[in-house]
Amino acid sequence: MRPTFSPELVNQPFGDPGLYVDFTFEKRALLFGLGDLTALPPKKLLRISDVFVSHTHMDHFFGFDRLLRICLGRNKAMRFYGPPGFAAQVGHKLAAYTWNLVENYPGDFMIDVWEVDAGWQACGTRLRCRNRFPGEPLEPLQLQDGVLRDEPAFRIRAAFLDHGMACLGFAIEEKMHLNVWRNRLAELGLPVGPWLKEFKDAVMQNAPDDTPVRACWCDRNGEHERVLALGALKAEVLRRVPGEKICYITDVAFHQGNVQRITALAADATQLFIECVFLEQDADHAARKHHLTARQAGSIAREASAKQVIPFHFSPRYAGREALLRAEIKAAWAGLP
Ligand SMILES: [Zn+2]
Ligand SMILES: [Zn+2]
Repeated sequence: MRPTFSPELVNQPFGDPGLYVDFTFEKRALLFGLGDLTALPPKKLLRISDVFVSHTHMDHFFGFDRLLRICLGRNKAMRFYGPPGFAAQVGHKLAAYTWNLVENYPGDFMIDVWEVDAGWQACGTRLRCRNRFPGEPLEPLQLQDGVLRDEPAFRIRAAFLDHGMACLGFAIEEKMHLNVWRNRLAELGLPVGPWLKEFKDAVMQNAPDDTPVRACWCDRNGEHERVLALGALKAEVLRRVPGEKICYITDVAFHQGNVQRITALAADATQLFIECVFLEQDADHAARKHHLTARQAGSIAREASAKQVIPFHFSPRYAGREALLRAEIKAAWAGLP
């Protein structure tokens, strides 16, 4: 099965937190966290369509300027999502610069900032470069069950967590995963290619069975096209399997309320990216900082039945002792004492 998403941490685990999620079949990516982004080349930054910010502590928001700088002057639109106060904070960042020459820029960069509250009301603000980024209000949205985005193939869900302040956790939930039987495709004389994505998209959107599917390809004998009925092709070459779930949890205190909300969000996650800031021996310090220990992160991953756990956001105090953090979270995830 070829996964739809390729998630990778932006930095090594002692660096600023952040998760870059590339789409395997599209020129598109999602970004979770806006910490130090210097590791991401412009090409990767320009693929980003949506940015999800858990909270605005500096290590999660300081990279905004780099993203802005790369996008300025381009015809590009992005959506940003964040907790209460987020739209004003993005506005303050933009207000720190002088924008008197932007009318001459070749393209118009635009950000729609969506700020959500605990009742899942989302207030939107549009910020346009050509207008020097004044905030234009968008129609507010009432979100259902924390779903920030609902697309045909996947949804992004958030949970309100506590870090001594409101902090969002996120999950990408693929609605279903469609596997193509390559040997059956070959038996029909059809090669793989971009046409398969259009075919899968049509299936995701529940298009009628008589919808024509155009398979186009080129080989040394020239260009080819065959038109097939969606229903027949679907029955012949596709298999539905449960979709992936990728969860990103960072900067959270360890207490019952948070544990319940995280385990609900991350239940059966294919991959759980979770902060792992301190060792259990420093649990008092972790509590004062509203962060998790490795043991606590591992126990949450176990309770959520996560299939894979990827720790990050290691405290610099453990430089050179990374293996201890990794061993502790792994043991707790496996249920070892
Ligand atoms: Zn924080
Ligand atoms: Zn942090």
